This record gives sequence, structure tokens and C-alpha cells, in this order.
Amino acid sequence: MGRVAIVTGGTRGIGEAVSIALRDMGLTVAANYAGNDARAADFTARTGIRAVRWDVSDHEACMAGVADVEAALGPVDVLVNNAGITRDGTFMKMTYQMWKEVMDTNLGGCFNMAKAVFPGMRERQWGRIVNIGSINGQAGQYGQVNYAAAKSGIHGFTKALALEGARVGVTVNAIAPGYIDTDMVAAVPGEVLDKIVAKIPVGRLGRAQEIARGVAFLCSEDGGFVTGSTLSINGGQHMY
Ligand code: NDP
Repeated sequence: MGRVAIVTGGTRGIGEAVSIALRDMGLTVAANYAGNDARAADFTARTGIRAVRWDVSDHEACMAGVADVEAALGPVDVLVNNAGITRDGTFMKMTYQMWKEVMDTNLGGCFNMAKAVFPGMRERQWGRIVNIGSINGQAGQYGQVNYAAAKSGIHGFTKALALEGARVGVTVNAIAPGYIDTDMVAAVPGEVLDKIVAKIPVGRLGRAQEIARGVAFLCSEDGGFVTGSTLSINGGQHMY
């Protein structure tokens, strides 16, 4: 039987491109999303990929959602933790709610989803987990204390879980995208975006497919010796 993947936030933007890339690799994909039913229905109509709705910040919902996917499609071999949100504002204006929503979704979602799939991967001695971090988790960003903290946390989460997965056939890696042309970046004001693009050595925004190709490699059989790594795909904007 072919392998099964869950991509969180898999119906739009980077997640959509990842869902399609994994499907094209021969995996059976379930694309999770939060609440945009119209977008999810359009995604399924265009791609034939099943869309499944739950909130990754809700631990119980993740456990139940993964159980439903496994009942329908079989054990989950690949998890891409891609769901993410922004609630930007300077620290002086950032409320506890803005902090909590971003931490619970972007970082808490990785914990919740990994908790649901890791035991099965470990038992079957094969698994791939890819967490989508961010250049802003590596370098920091003005007005994004919450987002930068959550994304930076993802990079630590990745390395620590990689150590626990290494001997049991489960790789855990992160991708740190730079600025990619999706709805999330469309929300950035035009004049701010112009300044950002001016700082990208390649001279343009990235494309969702360029992130998806990296995810696909990390999820492949050939990616088996790569674990605990962070692949930066950012047009040269941040190098280290
Ligand atoms: P989009 O805003 O285009 O899409 C976000 C997706 O995540 C949607 O499918 C959305 O579902 C889903 N989602 C949001 N919250 C939840 C939740 N609580 N539970 C389940 N699903 C949820 O995002 P991007 O494609 O731009 O970003 C994808 C990832 O890449 C994010 O983690 C982001 O932080 C990261 N990233 C993006 C960069 C960029 O430049 N775009 C740069 C660096 C990192 P719904 O459609 O139902 O709302």
C-alpha cells in the first residue's frame, strides 16, 4: 500500500503546493485546514485531494482528526506541519491573545500533530515529519515577537524530536522559507513588501512550489539520512 501523508494548512498557499507535490510523488494525501470551507472545496475539486477540517491548536481535535484520516486512508507515514498564522504588532501593542493564538497554532500545532502520529511511525519504524519554520524565526522580525518566537521554537522542536526519532526510522526536519508569494505575504502592506523584496539577493519573492520541492525531498526514501536539519529556502536573504 502507498504511503499516507497529512499536510496541515494544506489547502492554500505553501501547504497546497506541498499537498500536490506529495500526491505527485504517489502518496495519498489528506490536506487539513482551519475553517475556509469554500477554499477547501475548490482545492479538492481542482486536485482530487481530500480536505479535512480541524484546528491544529486543539489537541483533542488533532488526535480525533488523525484517527479519522487513519480509519479512512491507513496509517500516517508523513506529517507536514505547515499550518501557521500571523498576528503582527509591536511588542508594546501585542496582546496576550495575539501571543497565545500564534504560539498555540504555529508551535502548539506541531506538538499536537506529532503526538498523534509519532507513536505509529515509531512502531512501524518509518516516518517523515517536516515542520515549516521561517526566516523570521531564524533572524527575528520587527512587529513579530510572537511569530518569531513560535517559529524559532519550531527549529528547536525539530532538532530535539529528530534525536528521538533517529533510531526508530523517523526523520524530523524543518524548512525555513523566506518571503513566498501567498495570501500571508499579500497581507503585508505594499511599501513594506517593496523594501523586503529589495533585500532578497535573488530579487523576487519565492514561489510555493519552490518550498514544496524541498519538502518532497525530505519526505522521500532518499531523504532518510537527513534529520534534525533546517533547509533555508529564501533567495539568499539570510545565510547561516
Ligand atoms: P496561508 O495563510 O496562505 O495558508 C494558511 C493555511 O493554514 C490555510 O490552509 C489555513 O486554513 C491553515 N490554518 C491556519 N490556521 C490553522 C489552524 N489553527 N488549524 C488548521 N489549519 C490552519 O499561509 P502560507 O502558505 O503563506 O504559509 C504556510 C506556512 O509557511 C505557515 O506556517 C507560515 O508561517 C510559513 N511561512 C510562510 C512564509 C510566506 O512568505 N508565505 C514565509 C515563511 C514561513 P484555512 O484556509 O481554513 O484558513
